[in-house]
Amino acid sequence: MKAAVVSEKNKGKVDIIDVELPELQSGQALVNVEYCGVCHTDLHVIKGDFGEVPGRIPGHEGIGVVKEIADDVTSLKVGDRVSIAWFYEGCGTCEYCITGRETFCRDVKNAGFSVNGAMAEQCIVTADYAVKVPDNLDPAQASSITCAGVTCYKAIKVADVKPGQWIAIYGCGGLGNLAIQYAKNVFNAKVIAVDINNDKLELAKEVGADLTCNPIEIGDSGKWIQEQVGGAHGAVVTAVSKVAFNEAVNSLRAASKVVAVGLPPETMDLEIVKTVLDGIEVVGSLVGTRKDLEEAFQFGAEGKVVPIVQMKPLEEINNILDDMEHGKIQGRIVLDMSL
Ligand SMILES: [Zn+2]
Ligand SMILES: [Zn+2]
Repeated sequence: MKAAVVSEKNKGKVDIIDVELPELQSGQALVNVEYCGVCHTDLHVIKGDFGEVPGRIPGHEGIGVVKEIADDVTSLKVGDRVSIAWFYEGCGTCEYCITGRETFCRDVKNAGFSVNGAMAEQCIVTADYAVKVPDNLDPAQASSITCAGVTCYKAIKVADVKPGQWIAIYGCGGLGNLAIQYAKNVFNAKVIAVDINNDKLELAKEVGADLTCNPIEIGDSGKWIQEQVGGAHGAVVTAVSKVAFNEAVNSLRAASKVVAVGLPPETMDLEIVKTVLDGIEVVGSLVGTRKDLEEAFQFGAEGKVVPIVQMKPLEEINNILDDMEHGKIQGRIVLDMSL
């Protein structure tokens, strides 16, 4: 079967080659991949930022249909449509796995990084960890929810913003525009979208942001948010810049949380006095559990969240990664295996 693999010779690129899949093992299922979204994390994996993985098939926003199951599989049947997500498998027995925090399992397997992912015609999944896609959810849109969507949904859950309260979303790209939709249409929050790119702010308005601000034009967004609405009740930072993290902390009301999602390779400044006197919490949020993904899919199926996707063939992947690196992508690019 045709697959993209992390190139050994051309650093930061993938090669499209023919790959033979191993026999199905106990607990596994074979999936015919229909779609796979391209995530910023794939770029990190392919460039070797998390460690070199030559020969690995990337892709963790995969959606496909089960073609075959191992004899002992009971959680899936042939014909089910399922996800191939970054959280590919946990150990199932550690303190994180058994307390609803399975994405933090220390023995986690990640699709497209520590095991082969979905940028291929077929992919093997651990049946109990593949989340079923509702029938009435478009599979291409489901691919975006598998990583970008669930990551935002979970981060807003962690922010713990109540209906009618203000949430600041920093970064309005592939993740941010979904964060705005979940915040607005699922959590009934009021949304302030922050980005340094006016095109992305236009998109933010279209998907429901109540207020938008561009720190290049108005200066410190934290101060602006304090002036406009008396501070946000929570902030989710998907932007890859320490400035955004710092401004997000300053945008908060007392006793509120800033949830870190973006991964800039920097440290944030954290004013200890404000942290203590205002009871600020800073918390990281990593993708979502199987249950979070099931919920995130369901809201997509109900039409509350509509990912903006653009389909491309697998062969385009190197160009897509290049565009991604240069910030040229609006919404999400999805590889369509039928093209
Ligand atoms: Zn991702
Ligand atoms: Zn575990």
